[in-house]
Amino acid sequence: MREFAAAPLRARLWVGVAVLLALALPALTTTWPSPPVPVRDLLTAAALVAGSVVSVEIGRLFEGGTVAQQRPHKALSAWPMAAAVLLPAVYLIPVVALIYAHARWRGMRVTLWKWCASACFLMCAGAVAGLIVTAPTGAPPTLESGAPGLLIMVAGILSFLAVEAAMLAVAAWLNTAADEVWLRRTLADPAFYLTESGVLTIGALTGLLGADAPWFVLLMVPAYGFLQQSVLHRPLQERATRDPKTGLLVFTAWQQLAAEEIRRMSAHRRSWAVIFADIDHFRRYNERHGHLGGDRALEQVARIITGHVRPRDLIARFGGEEFCVLLPDTLAADAGEVAERLRRAVADESTSLPEPVTVSIGVAVVASGQTPMELAVVLARADQALYRAKLAGRNTVRIAGPATDADLGAHHP
Ligand code: GH3
Ligand code: MG
Ligand code: MG
Repeated sequence: MREFAAAPLRARLWVGVAVLLALALPALTTTWPSPPVPVRDLLTAAALVAGSVVSVEIGRLFEGGTVAQQRPHKALSAWPMAAAVLLPAVYLIPVVALIYAHARWRGMRVTLWKWCASACFLMCAGAVAGLIVTAPTGAPPTLESGAPGLLIMVAGILSFLAVEAAMLAVAAWLNTAADEVWLRRTLADPAFYLTESGVLTIGALTGLLGADAPWFVLLMVPAYGFLQQSVLHRPLQERATRDPKTGLLVFTAWQQLAAEEIRRMSAHRRSWAVIFADIDHFRRYNERHGHLGGDRALEQVARIITGHVRPRDLIARFGGEEFCVLLPDTLAADAGEVAERLRRAVADESTSLPEPVTVSIGVAVVASGQTPMELAVVLARADQALYRAKLAGRNTVRIAGPATDADLGAHHP
């Protein structure tokens, strides 16, 4: 709960609102007359929870524990969607709570309060979807409903998606940007809406079958397995952009992200900088401590660099023992300061290694209002500055001088 206390007050208030809504909406929208002993409803709810358990377990089988640090989409929203079709809305509360508890227990690495908030969002979305699908005739469409039923179901799915995405967006907007990088990126990605619609559609189909032909729901099991595999695709893709040794971006991925960022900054005439760092005498370090020892030093330096720049800065392992960092919206003086801070941090904080290491750093800056420069040109200038830092005796920072006409002209005649 320490993470929760650290979140901005407005984000915490929003979680409070979400919890209240998650309790109130399902309770208020439960309009169906329930039998006194709703055995059938209880069994249906239990079956939905069991379905989620099986589905998550199938997913675990496929991932083989390889995505421990990722936040794979678990297709959990299918179940509240099915519940919205099959059950009075109050059942959303225990069903979502149980499937979320199980998925978390089985290895979802998400901060607890965000996990709870996300469960509340699904309860609200399910309640609204339930309201929509039952609104026209008082009961959800069935397999015999024909085209009007289809339209009602589509409206239910879309309303679920809209409520869920809106509540997530408010959460991302109210929390600090740094804490919600992943969520903001997800919400801005059209693929999220495509995947989520697919998941919700399968949930709605489960609901339709469950009401009219429960045995046929078993035919959906492979579909859920398939779903688990496809929602896993993205985290795996993302992993390909990370260097396994340091967890930093690989250079090609960095180049792409940096180029996007630079395009945005050039459009607004903002200033930015690139830092190029290289571990000093690393060959010697390897000779003394072995290549495995060298790898540990690399990890440590990567951690130190990550800990001393802003979350918005992009860090990559360029190759070997070289790192590059893009500093968006950074003035020349500040870039020099960041570089100096990194240099000092590596020297000071690598003392936990058998032998401390140092880095030499080159910096190149593109001032605001300056003719836009290509990333490759700026990187090359940072590299030249790094070379001068090495010549100057290492464990030092050098800043590239003002850009020459050749730097500017080569790509912008
Ligand atoms: P300088 O101060 O001039 O940078 O000296 P240096 O020895 O660091 O320079 P050089 O670039 O010639 O050597 C880099 C060394 O980094 C060579 C290579 O063995 C080592 N290296 C590159 N990648 C890895 C890696 O992934 N793990 C380990 N342990 N060593 C690596
Ligand atoms: Mg080196
Ligand atoms: Mg090197």
